[in-house]
Amino acid sequence: MGQETVYAIASGKGGVGKTTTTVNLGTALAGAGARVAIVDADLGMANLAGFVSLSPGSATLHDVLAGEATVEEATYRLAENIVGVPSGNDLSEYAATAPEGLGDVVDTLREDADYVLLDVGAGVSHETVLPLGLADAVVIVATPEPAAIQDAAKTIDLVDRVDGELAGLLVTRTHPSGDVPAEKIASRLDVDLLGAIPEDTAVRASLYAGTPLVVHDPESPAATAYRTLASTLAGDELETDGSGADAPNTSTDDSSTGGSPGTDSTDDDAPDGDTTDDETPEDGATTDAPTDDDASSDDVSAAITDAEADS
Ligand code: ADP
Ligand code: MG
Repeated sequence: MGQETVYAIASGKGGVGKTTTTVNLGTALAGAGARVAIVDADLGMANLAGFVSLSPGSATLHDVLAGEATVEEATYRLAENIVGVPSGNDLSEYAATAPEGLGDVVDTLREDADYVLLDVGAGVSHETVLPLGLADAVVIVATPEPAAIQDAAKTIDLVDRVDGELAGLLVTRTHPSGDVPAEKIASRLDVDLLGAIPEDTAVRASLYAGTPLVVHDPESPAATAYRTLASTLAGDELETDGSGADAPNTSTDDSSTGGSPGTDSTDDDAPDGDTTDDETPEDGATTDAPTDDDASSDDVSAAITDAEADS
């Protein structure tokens, strides 16, 4: 399996499990020995806030995109092998950010990571579409509900329009019976199925604990499914095949004391982030990164316009 580094974790609809997936897939990959960076690319919401303890004034992705901090300053160690770049909480700072700078952030993180996971906001706006083209591959997240599936179809279309690559579909919050099977949803959407994560009360408990589920309750059904997803994406690159009962050893998590967990179950109203789309970062600081498919600002805007016309 070709080794892709940068994954965008995306969905049309909010509240389907993108942040849960970013945190737990990232932690599962790190637990198996990969170096991982997770990025809160959902600029309007502080999704990773529950997992990163930030003191007031700490640098965030907002500061980086506003040109006021370096990527290194906004990168925090979460546990062994995994760092996170949180987004800020302050909406006035948010207004000053230029989402286009995300490409440079990704290129910097690529240098030291085996995997960079971008937790992308819901909806259709400049800041949500841009990462779809920046990533090496896009993981589409949807629950088995009709609205989520419909919105997944739109996101798949957007990936296509920005010349992005699809990794496939992850169906989340599945129930043993009563749902359309994940395979059927994937074939209806005409994408590969990457996996299915069952509905699991342990997910909520881990949020309150401020600890990734795969560490908090490694034997829970959803944690097991996230490890399976990690091995699916990594192929045989990982030290540990976490597909079975033997959990990878993630006991070295020593920094999971984040404050109040992010309990944002309804963050589907990301504000439009397209206030500054005239600042394309064309400074070519792309060292050795395989950026054959950087989405230009124009592509992104055109894709948004087309998507809006369709709906
Ligand atoms: P998104 O980032 O797409 O908005 P989240 O990851 O924040 O979605 O998840 C939304 C809500 O759904 C959260 O309250 C989370 O705890 C819950 N959730 C996500 N995945 C599961 C699951 N497999 N089982 C139970 N609850 C889940
Ligand atoms: Mg989220």
